[in-house]
Amino acid sequence: MVDLPDKRTAFMDWYLAVVEGARLTDKRYPVKGMNVWTPYGFLARRRLDTIMIREIEATGSVPLEFPTLIPETEFQKEAEHIKGFSTEVYWVTKGGSTPLDVPLLLRPTSETAMYPVFAIWIRSHKDLPLNVYQIVNTFRYETKTTRPFLRVREIHFFEEHTSQATEDLATERVASNLDAFARMARALCLPYAAVRRPDWDKFAGAHYSIALDIPIGEARTLQIGSIHHYRENFARPYEIRYEAPDGSQKYVHQTTFGLSERLLGAIVAVHGDAKGVAFPSSIAPYEVVVVPIPGKAGSGDTIAAAKAVAERLRARDRRVHVDPGDERPGAKYYRWELAGVPLRIEIGPRELERKEVSAADRLGKKASFPLDRLEAEVDRRLAQYDEALYAAANAQFRSAFAVALTVHDLAASKHVRVVPWCGSEECGHRVEEAIDGSLLGTPEGGLPLPLPKLEKCITCDASEGLRWALAGRPL
Ligand SMILES: [Zn+2]
Repeated sequence: MVDLPDKRTAFMDWYLAVVEGARLTDKRYPVKGMNVWTPYGFLARRRLDTIMIREIEATGSVPLEFPTLIPETEFQKEAEHIKGFSTEVYWVTKGGSTPLDVPLLLRPTSETAMYPVFAIWIRSHKDLPLNVYQIVNTFRYETKTTRPFLRVREIHFFEEHTSQATEDLATERVASNLDAFARMARALCLPYAAVRRPDWDKFAGAHYSIALDIPIGEARTLQIGSIHHYRENFARPYEIRYEAPDGSQKYVHQTTFGLSERLLGAIVAVHGDAKGVAFPSSIAPYEVVVVPIPGKAGSGDTIAAAKAVAERLRARDRRVHVDPGDERPGAKYYRWELAGVPLRIEIGPRELERKEVSAADRLGKKASFPLDRLEAEVDRRLAQYDEALYAAANAQFRSAFAVALTVHDLAASKHVRVVPWCGSEECGHRVEEAIDGSLLGTPEGGLPLPLPKLEKCITCDASEGLRWALAGRPL
């Protein structure tokens, strides 16, 4: 057993120790920023995918998959987009030993792979809307320090691309994506802020971008997803047009919605504590671990009893792991707490004799209950555990923000700052200089905080066009 670094004062050391200790990833693969998905990490990722798929398909999106390689000629069609990605792209320039006529790149995202084909698929207003998504790996040559799940070079990526007949319908799609993400985040017990990025920080080629941000260790922020409205910005260079009912030719309006394995990093970062990871039951590789405790000879077969308990729970579609190994029980408890399993069930000779089980959830709540109430008690205790996890995450989320009304407040605060802003780029940059960070943008739909009346811009004192903005230091 090892002591974990302190989460509050040494967040990143804590994070790295926890993801490794829980065996979610193996970073010893010999390419920097490309980590191995271990079996335990893979199971968590697959749960995450299941939640994303459920919620996006509920909004009418359908899955597909495009190739990994994109020809340079297609990539270059949207000028802002290529400018935004030019330093991050991996190139394939040879087939065997033969130089390729047109160099290929590994997709950093798939606009430029999909849109030439959308231009073939979309002919008439009857072909719209086109709402499709894929979950694939994307590649970005990241130059900052890489961190498992948070900043990697091969990214497990969810991307929805939609084409709509009008700008208003594309705006409605953005709203529908925000609703879908709200449901995903609720399933993950994850509070977040949807923040409309300032123009100088929007996605390359977008009309506007809404980022999904969370506060994370030591007054930083983490972008865990984004939704973009492209208007006709890609449709024009890729010539994605349709024939309207009146016979005229029109460009489609497009949107995208992107999420990644960062969500898994966020779950570790938000819910984890001094003992390790704490998974919400929705994403836990195992919701329940059953630990048999051996007794004296003749005191009964606790391993067989543990397996019988697991079978009953699996029959109810619970994900259950039995740990009959030779380690002493204390070492097993430590290991499964580090790995974040929501509920542990113990069966020893005493439990066998009384026809009951002992249970402890990952937040430390303990109880014993009769074996004949097993299924109902497990349902109830997992639901209570998820609620407690969500309540704690919400309290942590609210306490991460502080209102700053003056430039002096800005520099002094150890929080994500909430500032009154006039909307000008110049004032935005002055805020960024004061905190050595970013003006993240304006929260959509407000913040769960008591805010004073808007009176004047934090830097220029203007009283016109005021809105609240978030400012912080992105991880
Ligand atoms: Zn101002």
